[in-house]
Parts: sequence; structure tokens; C-alpha cells
Amino acid sequence: MKKLFWAATLLSLSLAGCKENRGAGTIKIGYLPITHSLPVLTAAALQEESDGVNIELVKFGSWTDLSDALNTGRIDGASVLVQLAMKAREMGIGLKAVALGHTDGNVVIVAPDIDSAADLRGKTFAIPHRQSSHYLLLNQLLGEAGLSVNDVEIVELAPPDMPYALSSGQIAGYCVAEPFGAKAVEAGIGKVLFESADLWEHSLCCVLVLGDEYLVNNHAAAHRFVDLYKRVGQYIDAHRDEVFELTRGQLNIDKQVYDISLRWISFGDLAIGRDYYDDLVRRVREAGLSTAPPSWEQFVDPSLY
Ligand code: ZN
Repeated sequence: MKKLFWAATLLSLSLAGCKENRGAGTIKIGYLPITHSLPVLTAAALQEESDGVNIELVKFGSWTDLSDALNTGRIDGASVLVQLAMKAREMGIGLKAVALGHTDGNVVIVAPDIDSAADLRGKTFAIPHRQSSHYLLLNQLLGEAGLSVNDVEIVELAPPDMPYALSSGQIAGYCVAEPFGAKAVEAGIGKVLFESADLWEHSLCCVLVLGDEYLVNNHAAAHRFVDLYKRVGQYIDAHRDEVFELTRGQLNIDKQVYDISLRWISFGDLAIGRDYYDDLVRRVREAGLSTAPPSWEQFVDPSLY
């Protein structure tokens, strides 16, 4: 009953929902159990509002596994790090980014004895994957402190391992998708050195991508799915407690951690603006993550959002 009430509230947010029900079949969407994936998790929880599109969530334990499934067509789409999707597109994989996963929402977490970016010199710092905005944020904060990525030991760790690595002294800090920054704050083992919005306002991190094959063969269904996804983004910002209940089965985190995490993340505007994307491309090039990132026209399908 509660779920139906929330769905009704969601519907009231809709200004122009598609009303035909044409039996659109199933769309398989890959995700990692992180608060950055809340729009796909919430869309799946409220899929009776999807106008006939059955959303099947496929859980992955790492970005590498998710990317492999996406790039080989085992899933129709995913909530994925934008740099991994850009790299796939650069390699000729047929996919399009149709919306953001969130805006802002990353933090740089450090050990209690680290008080500035300069204190990270010679220390070990963890990121989930080099192809990420977490790497770009680290690159920026070190640069602004007169250092470079060569002045720290960068390691790639699985996100759930980062809080323990920090508390045990294996690393001096990390930057990763939420809620793993919030976990360190809630446990009192780390502190926030920077929020991403302080370094890079409206930073892009996760995007919703769909495979070209799905988009071509199921365009109407893709449109209805993204229409729901868009409404869900606005719904999350206004109904955070309800969304916690709707998605707790996938996220499996404490409410305190969830609340801290969501202080930093916004979901209300998930359009992929050209200016923000061009800024990301500039950062990707300058950090040496790619020499030929796809243009906005090559990478983004703005028609669905
Ligand atoms: Zn993200």
C-alpha cells in the first residue's frame, strides 16, 4: 500500500507522462549498489509507473564487470562512470548516454592526521578506477596544492574495501562513489577534506547509458523508461526517506550513512548539458585519460530526457 502511495506521489510530479501501454518487454539495467545509482534503483522500485516497461536490475560488484557486460551486450544499459562509457564509445562500442546518474556527490576522505592536500605528498591514496571523476578530482586538488599525481601513490581499490583500508592505515585517503565516504564519516575513521562541489561544481560522475541496439529496436520503450527515470530524479530529492525504504533491499546500508551520503548528492536535474560535458572532456584530456574522447554529439542522445 505504501509503495502505491509513493507511486501516486511520483505520478503527481509528472507533467507530461507517456500514456500508451504497448507492452514494451524487459530492459536489463546494470548497477553497483551505491547511492549514485539511486535513480535506476528507484525507477525499478516504481516501475508500475513505467507504462509497460519491465525494468530488470542486474547487480555487479565492480565497474570492470559492469563495463564488460555492457560492452558485450549482456545488459541493455547501465548506471556507469561516465569516463568508462566514454572510453567504450571511443573504442567503437555502440552506446549512448541519455541522462546523468546524479550531479556533485563525491567527497575526498582523509585520515585524521591529514589537514590539507599538501599533506598527501608521499602518501597512498585510493580511487576505484583511473577512468573516473575521482581521479580527476584528485588530479585537480593536488594541482591546486602545487603537487601532481606523481607525488602520491595511487592505488585502485574496490569501493567497499576503502573505509577499512583507511582505518588500518594502508591508505591516507580516498575518493569514490557514495556511500563509502559517508561510511568513514559515520564511523568516525575519516574526515571530509573536500566536497566535489568545492573543487568542480556540477561535476559529472555517473551516467545512464543505453546500448545502440536497444535504442534502435525499442525506441518507444526507451523513451518511456527515461521519462520515468527523469521523474524519479526529481522525486528522490523531495522524498529521501521514502526512497531509502524503496531501495534498502539493493543498497543494504544504515539510514545514518544514507542520510550523510545524500547531503552531498543532487538528482533533480539529470540532463547532460553540453557545457558541462565539454568541461569534462577538457579535464579528461588534460589528465591524460584519453586523447580522443567522444564529442557531445557522438556520445549523448538528448532526445530521450
Ligand atoms: Zn557517480
